[in-house]
Formats: sequence, C-alpha cells, structure tokens
Amino acid sequence: MTAARSRIRIRKGDLVEVIAGKEKGKRGEVLKADPRAQRVIVENLNLSKKHKRPRPLRDSGRMGQQQIEPGGVIDIAAPIPISNVMVVCPSCDRPTRVGHAIEEVKGAPAKVRVCTRSDCGKGVDR
Ligand SMILES: [Zn+2]
Repeated sequence: MTAARSRIRIRKGDLVEVIAGKEKGKRGEVLKADPRAQRVIVENLNLSKKHKRPRPLRDSGRMGQQQIEPGGVIDIAAPIPISNVMVVCPSCDRPTRVGHAIEEVKGAPAKVRVCTRSDCGKGVDR
C-alpha cells in the first residue's frame, strides 16, 4: 500500500517556505491546497501577471452614462508543486519535513503532524 505516501502534508493555513525555484527562501501562507494536483497556492508567491482588458459593465447604461471596468495588469498567485515547499515549524521557525505522531487530543488519541527536526519534534498544527 502506497496510499499514505501520496497523502498531502500541507494544508490550507500552513506557513510554508519555498525551497526550490526562483522564489527560494520566501515564505507565505497556504491559501489553497490541491492534493490531487500535488500543488499549493501560497499568498503573494509565484505571482504571474494577468492582463485584463477594459470592458463596459453590463446594465450600466440606464442613466445614459456607460461605466467601464478598468483594465490593467493584475497579479495572480499561481500554484506551486508541493515538492518545492516545506512547512515552517511554528515552534522552531525552520522549514521542516512533516512527520506524524499519535497524541492525545481532548482525551482521545489523534494523529497529529509534527516537526521532524531532532531537536524540536513539536506539533506543527496550529
Ligand atoms: Zn520544529
């Protein structure tokens, strides 16, 4: 069984650091995680410029004056492969591989994500 291996280790809301590519070393919060595509969208990272055309707004001509939606260039965060990012541990503030451990949460054993740094080992779930 290899199902556990392909399970995504990064979740929405995690702080991640980019470890490869042109934005190496930068950090940001995960806005969206896509386990199927194995990609994440991180705020303000991997921005790509999208050009928008100015266009008239529908139903705006009633008062005789037509409103125009302004065009221009907008920045959109493009997905990053999860292999290019690592979760930043909130305890030791370093990018880390995420491991799993069983811990007691509210009186019941639960699977939690932990920092794999040997001198840390604290949970990374916030
Ligand atoms: Zn840590």
